[in-house]
Amino acid sequence: MPNITLKHVNKSYDKNATNAVSDLNLEIGDGEFMCLLGPSGCGKTTTLRMIAGLENLTGGEIAVGDRVIDSIGKGVFVPPEQRGMGLVFQSYALWPHLTIEKNTDFGLRLRKVPKAEREERVNLVMKKLGIEQYRDRYPSQLSGGQQQRVALARMLAVNPEVLLLDEPLSNLDARLRLEMRTELKRIHGEFGTTIVFVTHDQWEAMTLATSIAVMHDGTLQQVGTPNDIYDRPANRFVAEFVGSPPINIIDQSPGNSRITDASRQYLKEYFPAISGADSLGLRPENIKLASQISDVPADHFAEEAFVAAILPTGGSWIIEVMVDDHKLFLTVNEPPQVSVGQQVWFHTSPAFMHLFDSDDQRLTA
Ligand code: ATP
Repeated sequence: MPNITLKHVNKSYDKNATNAVSDLNLEIGDGEFMCLLGPSGCGKTTTLRMIAGLENLTGGEIAVGDRVIDSIGKGVFVPPEQRGMGLVFQSYALWPHLTIEKNTDFGLRLRKVPKAEREERVNLVMKKLGIEQYRDRYPSQLSGGQQQRVALARMLAVNPEVLLLDEPLSNLDARLRLEMRTELKRIHGEFGTTIVFVTHDQWEAMTLATSIAVMHDGTLQQVGTPNDIYDRPANRFVAEFVGSPPINIIDQSPGNSRITDASRQYLKEYFPAISGADSLGLRPENIKLASQISDVPADHFAEEAFVAAILPTGGSWIIEVMVDDHKLFLTVNEPPQVSVGQQVWFHTSPAFMHLFDSDDQRLTA
């Protein structure tokens, strides 16, 4: 399957409303596991439905390799069933009058696959997704999570070249969700299927994707590997959306007392090319604490703080420190060596500092 390319794609449901998707340019490579990630209403589902051919574009075009499949300008629209893409949506629309086995078999039957082959495929995917024991039941006799697995099985049975998945794991409990993620990742590795996966769950995107496209208010914020997105967020929105607990942002606009003169001097020395930095982002796991300034490595950024709270999370701890009236959260994997109320220095290496300009765009390399 060649790459899927979206060029200047626009979608507005209503002429008077703001665009659900604006000027979206995105390339989804063959065999990629692409996650469309962003908060509710950012345009993920709309994008997926346009790729599927379930929603008309209001501008731009979509191509598969050299073949344009959707473009108003060129008067092209390839209908959904001719796009070679399998779809699973949050509302999984199983046939209520068919058993689980018949539901799983549905796509194969439609494609007139020989009976023996159909049986083999159906048994295989039902086993893989752990729904064999429900084969004679009807959808109404299954839980939401079980129905979701049937929907996945039905789609996997026909072995499509591209899978379009819209929050397909949203109804599963935590354990099953994890198992299904592993299963999806394995299926992706095994079959080399191109997958486009919509989620608002950053953890899900980080664990599954080979590439993540972060969206906000209908616009693409950044495309990159999970590491790119996490380690080099393109702007403040991406930095704050990805990571849990979220990144700490220290506003250092003029007159703000949170950053001391010494630290300001430090920033000038370490980032001489960057004079326009307006805010500073620090991930919780990159912040260290020292009881005295003499324990802080000379090349570290440091500020005085006091420990406001220590929250055990089972196996790790979240520590809340206050710098003036500003809260920072950090995480540690060893029992904390500090106590609540203690004066400390928080410090970090310049390698872990994210600087943003007054337009919230990333400044550091
Ligand atoms: P969620 O995670 O909540 O599903 P999303 O990121 O998938 O959100 P979309 O469903 O693509 O977002 O919606 C993008 C925007 O388009 C939203 O403002 C939404 O209200 C609007 N929208 C979506 N579908 C329609 C529709 N059929 N008619 C009018 N507006 C719509």
